Amino acid sequence: MTPNIIRNFVTKRATRRYPHEVRAPFEGARGELYNEIEKCTFCRICAVKCPSQCITVDKKTATWECNPFACVYCGICVDVCREKCLHQKCQYRPPVCEREIIFMKGKTKKTG
Ligand code: SF4
Ligand code: SF4
Repeated sequence: MTPNIIRNFVTKRATRRYPHEVRAPFEGARGELYNEIEKCTFCRICAVKCPSQCITVDKKTATWECNPFACVYCGICVDVCREKCLHQKCQYRPPVCEREIIFMKGKTKKTG
């Protein structure tokens, strides 16, 4: 045990003080969602396929919402979106104390 303690004193830390020290994300990292709301048709496919049921879509009010506290960042919603308007930022998800509900409002379509 003593050699381990000495080695730990003289070698670089294996961990980072996140979020104060942020590592550069690797290519293809799956971070927070964003929706190009002007392309969204509010079809609800992302909400139906989401395993965490954290997406809420309302076609009448043209709103799209995601709860990042329930999201597991799996990317299924991005894959199933036919309009290709849903994306994941290539950056690490923010710590819990900095997360906020992602709420986006598009334009309501006139009917009749
Ligand atoms: S699947 Fe795409 S187009 Fe449909 S509601 Fe979700 S983000 Fe909008
Ligand atoms: S990344 Fe996964 S868990 Fe998060 S909203 Fe999309 S489908 Fe749901």
